[in-house]
Amino acid sequence: MKQYLPMKVTVSIIKADIGGLPGHAWVHPKILEFAAERLREEQRSGLLIDYFVYNVGDDMSLLMTHTKGENNPDIHGLAWSIFKEATENIAKKVKLYGAGQDLLKDTFSGNIRGGLGPQVAEMEFEERPSEPLVVFAADKTEPGAFNLPFYRIFADPFNTAGLVIDPAMHQGGFRFEILDVYEGKVYLLDAPENSYDILGLIGTPGRYIIRRIYRKSDLVQASVTSVERLNLIAGRYVGKDDPVAIVRAQHGLPAVGEVLEAFAYPHLVEGWMRGGSHVGPLMPAKMVSIDQERKIALGPKMTRFDGPPKVIALGFQLHDGYLEGPRGLI
Ligand SMILES: [Mg+2]
Repeated sequence: MKQYLPMKVTVSIIKADIGGLPGHAWVHPKILEFAAERLREEQRSGLLIDYFVYNVGDDMSLLMTHTKGENNPDIHGLAWSIFKEATENIAKKVKLYGAGQDLLKDTFSGNIRGGLGPQVAEMEFEERPSEPLVVFAADKTEPGAFNLPFYRIFADPFNTAGLVIDPAMHQGGFRFEILDVYEGKVYLLDAPENSYDILGLIGTPGRYIIRRIYRKSDLVQASVTSVERLNLIAGRYVGKDDPVAIVRAQHGLPAVGEVLEAFAYPHLVEGWMRGGSHVGPLMPAKMVSIDQERKIALGPKMTRFDGPPKVIALGFQLHDGYLEGPRGLI
């Protein structure tokens, strides 16, 4: 009988807006193709196990799997060089709108988290015998837009029946790591015991953001949300950042359907039109196309008033670090 050997895998998403086609609408398909080609080279070189490239609106996400852990200079440097080269060789050449807008510094200093501009969501974990992953990306909004749906996924039994039925979740619930982006403080609060305190914070989504969620009984990490630019500006608010997030599902964690159900309600979020001066409903949106061979997916198109704020979800099965899929889940 084949023995199951647990393996530590890191799933990294690094994303940036390096120019829109037209205005703030969409990523140029040539940029997605360029990024996929570069990541393919690094898969051949052995740096990456697997990868996938996709966009929502004007933001391109590089999804990468590897064994290097979080904050690895090779992985961050690869993403930075892809964003830089695509800016110089494509975005600036064809004069995309806001070419290179998220690249705030000229040189790479070993970690994208050092205020360089792109957003990062990374999670290192031991791969389970079956490892379903749901990857979210949102456009024209802010990281706090995920507060309400993530609370409902991991703390609301009317959304997630597993909190009542599944013994692994029933015993202990989940621990929420919440970041105060004004003060740089981190709060660790447990649901259901501290539900009212969690809600008291995350109801102010421009200030308090759910960054990570753990299963309390064994501290298995279940989710991570990007908070990068907001993270380092304790005491000063620098504005909106379209967020990405990774959620692990099933087998002692919420089911894929429970993870998605929380997005069925289009609650109002900030970040729409003119530097985020408008609020709008967070709309689940369908990918235009998913090409599993080329490992590229094209995100939904803007429909009205540079918006609305929208969220996409891609579903993968991870196996030995390889990304099976994805399926568009919305
Ligand atoms: Mg955007």
